[in-house]
Amino acid sequence: MVLSEFVGNEEVIYEISETMKNRLLPHAILIEGVKGSGKRSLARILAQYAVCSAEGDRPCGVCPACIKAEKGIHPDIVTADGSKAGELNIEAVRSIRSAAYIKPNEGENRVFLMHFCEKMLPAAQNAFLKVLEEPPQNVLFVLTAVSATSLLQTIRSRTRIYSLYPPSVTEAETVLKKMFPDKDAFLLSEAAQNSGGNIGAAIELLNTGGEEEKKTAEAIFRAIPLSTEYALLTETFKITKDRSFAITVLERLYELSAECLKASCGAKNVSPVALELSKTLSKKRLQALFFQVQKARDVLKYNVNLNFYSTWLCSVLRRY
Ligand SMILES: [Zn+2]
Repeated sequence: MVLSEFVGNEEVIYEISETMKNRLLPHAILIEGVKGSGKRSLARILAQYAVCSAEGDRPCGVCPACIKAEKGIHPDIVTADGSKAGELNIEAVRSIRSAAYIKPNEGENRVFLMHFCEKMLPAAQNAFLKVLEEPPQNVLFVLTAVSATSLLQTIRSRTRIYSLYPPSVTEAETVLKKMFPDKDAFLLSEAAQNSGGNIGAAIELLNTGGEEEKKTAEAIFRAIPLSTEYALLTETFKITKDRSFAITVLERLYELSAECLKASCGAKNVSPVALELSKTLSKKRLQALFFQVQKARDVLKYNVNLNFYSTWLCSVLRRY
């Protein structure tokens, strides 16, 4: 990720990009902001900047150093997380202090990313202060905390503080669309809204759950070959619960029918459920079903009445 891809907080980002262009980044930066405001993303960009080997604008995002930084495997970038036991206690801070004087392995600079700095006890903060007072050359410290005030004034006065605010719901939606180009736009917008624009929380919403949707999709699939329509109707009716539920069920059903079709063509890397279900219908029927589900999934993108839709879905899935 490069700075221009950072969403929201335009003023801070503009200031940082100007500082980067002029190569005037200070040796210690403190980023404050609530969860989901982008502290870690910004910290990662700053670290990338410090190790990037490009001649022009840094970070370039494409040089080997940037790629290593992005993957979290650059040897000159050290991360310590105060929320994890022992990572920012006094001993840990002392070892960060001595590591700061070691020459960089690969690039021009060494970077120390220190997250959850509010967890640092005053003694650890004082130990850290020593290295801030006489910073070694070619070192960048990036500290993150919910609030800068949780750190000692002596530390705050020796760092440049950038305050981040969570992106708006619309900005969050833009980010999510970039991150999940394959996911339904309605689902993404729901996740952005339900998380109040907090991207971390929105990703959690998109990734967690879904068990019920998966089960419903499987139940619908199982009911397709049954002789009576009633069983299928009972299952498709379940999607009338709400729109985002219906969209996810159809998405799962689409994936499942694609997998079953693959299984019927002899593919090996399919789930046991798909393998089992693929045997309940003929290959020709599976092919037809795949297109029927695809069509049904697309129809749901229009603002259709869910009750009518569930009945229609049942009839479409039973069509041979
Ligand atoms: Zn680079």
